[in-house]
Amino acid sequence: MQARRDQDFFWEGIDRGELLVQTCDACDTIRHPPQPRCAACGSDAWRAEPLSGEGTILAFLESVHPSRRDEEPRCVCLVELPEGIRMVSSLLDPENAANGAAVRFEITEYDGQKLPLVRTAGGGQ
Ligand SMILES: [Zn+2]
Repeated sequence: MQARRDQDFFWEGIDRGELLVQTCDACDTIRHPPQPRCAACGSDAWRAEPLSGEGTILAFLESVHPSRRDEEPRCVCLVELPEGIRMVSSLLDPENAANGAAVRFEITEYDGQKLPLVRTAGGGQ
């Protein structure tokens, strides 16, 4: 049996269509990235809580592979969530990339893997 890794619950949630975050059972502190113990109180007890799925772009860049370029521009962005944590994601509508833009997470299949990608509020579907 393979040992469970701290982040397994996150990817199992993504597979079910849920964006989850590790939350301390003892003091309710959010832990992201996932960790075996709470940095605030030292407890190893935790639960998975759903995130709102909303966020704001703090920074972004166009990622270009030096030899195997994507057909479409790939915009990597740092997203600040209202829960007080930050996640790195890719923007589904890179033409709308802007610092401070409101985004929403969409669990999207990419190359056979479900990923939490983001789209701006004005980006349509
Ligand atoms: Zn704690």
